[in-house]
Amino acid sequence: MTVDLVIKNAKLVTPRGINDSGLIINDGIIVGITKDLHLPQADRVIDAKGKPVLPGPIDGHCHHTSPPDTAETSSQAGARGGFTTLLDMPPETTFNGEEYRAKRQRFSGNCYLDYTLHGAAASGYPTGSLAEQWVQGATGVKFFVSNAGPGWPQTFDGDIIEGFRELAGVNGLALIHAENDQIIQDNSRRLKAEGRKDFPAMLEARPKIAEVECGRRIIQYLEETGCRGLIVHTSVPETVYRAAEARIRGVKVNIETCPQYLYLTTDDVKKKGPWAKFAPPARSKETTLRIREMLSKGWIDTVATDHSPHSKEAKEAGVDDILNAPNGIPGLEPFLTLMLNGVNEGWLSLERLAAVTSENPARIFGLYPKKGALRVGSDADLVIVDMDKEVIIRNEDQITACGWTPYDGYKVKGVPILSVVRGTVIMEDGVVVGDKGYGEYNPRL
Ligand SMILES: [Zn+2]
Repeated sequence: MTVDLVIKNAKLVTPRGINDSGLIINDGIIVGITKDLHLPQADRVIDAKGKPVLPGPIDGHCHHTSPPDTAETSSQAGARGGFTTLLDMPPETTFNGEEYRAKRQRFSGNCYLDYTLHGAAASGYPTGSLAEQWVQGATGVKFFVSNAGPGWPQTFDGDIIEGFRELAGVNGLALIHAENDQIIQDNSRRLKAEGRKDFPAMLEARPKIAEVECGRRIIQYLEETGCRGLIVHTSVPETVYRAAEARIRGVKVNIETCPQYLYLTTDDVKKKGPWAKFAPPARSKETTLRIREMLSKGWIDTVATDHSPHSKEAKEAGVDDILNAPNGIPGLEPFLTLMLNGVNEGWLSLERLAAVTSENPARIFGLYPKKGALRVGSDADLVIVDMDKEVIIRNEDQITACGWTPYDGYKVKGVPILSVVRGTVIMEDGVVVGDKGYGEYNPRL
C-alpha cells in the first residue's frame, strides 16, 4: 500500500523517552510507528536526518486578536514558530454562550493552525453564562482577578467563587490571572502621586506579594468549590509550591508559566521599559532560575506564550511614562527556539519539553489524545527540530503584525525546521508553506 507521508530517520520524543522510529501518516492521522526498515511506500518521504521529532506544540494561551494581530497574522506567526495548535485567549471577549458562538464564526476560515477558543468571565453577567460557554466548546474560562482594562470588567471575589462553582458543575476549567488588584491600584496611585514615570516604577506597582497573595487565595477558592483551575503565567515559586501541596490534598490545580519568566528579569525591565512590560512582571534573576528548576522537576505543568502583540506606537507611550504602556509582549515566533535553547543549556530535557508544550496542555484542555501525542490514532501534528542550529532573534525577522520582539539580539541554539498539522507540512525552513483557513476548530473530546 502507499500512504500519504512517512517520516524516516526520526528520534521520536515523548514525555516517557526518545525512540529511533519512523512515522506512517495517512489521511492526517498517525497510522503506524515502526522501525524504518518496515516503512511503506509514501507519496512524500521526509528524512528527519536523525533529528528530534516532537509532538505538535500547543499554545494554551495566545491572545490571537490582540491588535495589531488578527487570527490570520498570529496563527501565521505561530506556524513559523513551530506551533501546530493555538488556544485563543480573549481580548476578543466572550462572556456568554452567544458571544462564544459568534467568535467561533469569526475565526472560521482565518487560521493557519488548528485552534480552540477559551471563554471569559466578568462580574455583571448572569449565572449560567460560564457553563453556556463551556457547553459550546470553550477549553477554559478566563478570570481576571486584577483589573484588565475598560474592555473587560473585573471579576470580584464573590463572583469568582460562584463562577468556580458553576464551572465545577460542568467539570469546566477556570483559567486565572492571579494578582491582587487592591495592592496594584494602591501602589499605582501612590507612584503617580509621587510623579514616578521611570521604568522600575512598574515593578513597584506590581510586586511579588500581589501575585503570591492572590495565588494562595485562588487555590483556596478552587479547593472550596471543587473546580479545576489553571493558574496562568505564573512567575513566583510560592504559587508553584502551594499548588503542588494543594494537589496532594486533591485540589485540581495546575500551573502555567511562559518563556518571559524563564528568560527576562527585572534588569530587562529597567533597561527596556515598555518593551519588557507584561503582567505579572519579570522577576529577579534568582526567581527566574527557580522557575526553570520547577519546570524541569515537573512542578509546573505547561509553558505558553501569553502572546499579546501591542504595536510599537502603543508601547512607545511608555518610554516617557512607563505606567502608561500596555502590558504584554509578542511571543509566538521565538517560543520554541527559546525552549530548545533551554535544552541546549541543560535546564530542560527534550522529554519534559514534549510534556509541557504538548501532552500536558492537551490533557488539561481536553484535547488528548487527538492532540498532544505521537501515537497511532492521534492527529499527525509534529515538529522536527535542529538542536545544533544557531540563530540570532531579530525584530526585522518577525512576521507577527507588531514587528518587534523583546528578545531582539538574543543568540539561541535549537530551532524548529519543519512542522506538520494533520499530515500536511505547514512550515519548512522557517517559511510558512501552509494555507490560511487550513486550521480547524478542535472541539474538546
Ligand atoms: Zn494573557
